[in-house]
Amino acid sequence: MSQLYLQPIISGELGRSAPNAAVDRNHFARGSHTPALFEIDGVPVQKLTEEFGSPLFVFSEHTLRGKARRAREAFKSRYPKTSFAWSFKTNYLGAICRIMREEGWIAEVVSDFEYQKARKLGYEGKDIIFNGPHKPKAILEQALAEGALIQIDNWDELNLIEELVKNAKHPVSVGLRVWLDAGIRPVWSKFGFSLANGEAGRAAERVIGNPHLNLHTLHTHIGTYILTPEAYRVATQKLLALRDHIHSAYDHVVECLNLGGGFPSYSLLHGMAGPAEQVVPPIEAYADAITEVLNRLPAKKRPLLRLESGRHMVDEAGYLLSTVVAVKGMNRHVVSESDMTGRDYKEQIVVGEDPKIGYVLDSGVNLLYTAAWYQLSIKPARIINSPPMPSRIYGCLCMAIDVIRDSIDMPPLKTGDILSLHPVGAYNLVQSMQFIAYRPAAILIAEDGTAHLIRAREVLDDVERSERTPAYLAAKS
Ligand SMILES: *Cc1c(COP(=O)(O)O)cnc(C)c1O
Repeated sequence: MSQLYLQPIISGELGRSAPNAAVDRNHFARGSHTPALFEIDGVPVQKLTEEFGSPLFVFSEHTLRGKARRAREAFKSRYPKTSFAWSFKTNYLGAICRIMREEGWIAEVVSDFEYQKARKLGYEGKDIIFNGPHKPKAILEQALAEGALIQIDNWDELNLIEELVKNAKHPVSVGLRVWLDAGIRPVWSKFGFSLANGEAGRAAERVIGNPHLNLHTLHTHIGTYILTPEAYRVATQKLLALRDHIHSAYDHVVECLNLGGGFPSYSLLHGMAGPAEQVVPPIEAYADAITEVLNRLPAKKRPLLRLESGRHMVDEAGYLLSTVVAVKGMNRHVVSESDMTGRDYKEQIVVGEDPKIGYVLDSGVNLLYTAAWYQLSIKPARIINSPPMPSRIYGCLCMAIDVIRDSIDMPPLKTGDILSLHPVGAYNLVQSMQFIAYRPAAILIAEDGTAHLIRAREVLDDVERSERTPAYLAAKS
């Protein structure tokens, strides 16, 4: 082999997301150890896919309850008047909602479907918070009659609610969604009334002026995966200032401040350097930011604090197990895993070949909507004693954009290898698409280590259930 010195090519791009990032060329900087995930809560990963198939969503009850307990402790120890609502849209599998309910979380819903699901799961109206920019009239009427707390999003909805409560015998409690600048970009101005231009104050004045309504809550939800606890300090101060203004102008005390969700999970966005445990502040930092502001008030004046955290609670409790179905690329390890030296590797780059090994999985972005934003951690289920190599993880859809990780160091994998993708418990299952494939089963690993099916794998009948064949077409076949 030639010993010529090859000048390293230094690209100007430093992020891992850059296609030719320098970090992808330094074979020797990678170390040779790749962490594996053999089991989830004591159950071997291999056994799970043998029993329930692949791909497979796996939820850990232990992790979910652990997150709930820690968040509760973080807030209640600092501010006892805290209550929590489960953001259904983050994950509305019945089993997950039931666990959160056992932990003391009421329901936070954003659509007629979610409202009906919460009622069916046994939540009473008083234990449901109803958010979202579109609450169809029929469900709004039902929710008002059943005593749910409507957090009003816009003037049209306020008009409709005033119409619906005009014969109410007692004032109906409602909340107002407010958008404000907490220093986070982009500002989520799609939802609610603007604080800065006085709109929120005017909406409050109108609700207070209506004898059939009681302004119970001021609500804001500043975004998701917010990495700066300080943003919550600002949001709390701004909502409190509005509450003060309402008190002095209309002599009305707003009982509850609802700061929404948005706390991050231990995950990384593309281009971020980890580990996530070091980048993402702990929940206690958020609790400090919010409760330090509230605790400055005299005890009698402190509002009820409400939170609607989704991602933070459930993301890490969820895994997707998926199987390697094909290995692609010039560098795939077909002959011998140890044949290629770093020098060979560099030479291949110099001649311009894509240095990455491609792995195709049996799942894709149809099941992993959040892979567009987050670098999912991917671990094999066995020890592989070969250095990790620059790799790309493809999904199985017939679409070029179906790439789960464009750039990741993986040791040489074989077809049949099971990988665990994590954290995927928030949003992925509820946003999954049926496109060309059956959606997989989901299981829950109970705290005693037993595995339970909580959603069956789809079959053809599930997919076709709502299709209808016009008689004239049916007759011909
Ligand atoms: C989605 C949503 C939440 C939950 O957000 P996370 O970032 O997952 O915590 C809370 N409140 C409202 C109004 C939402 O739309």
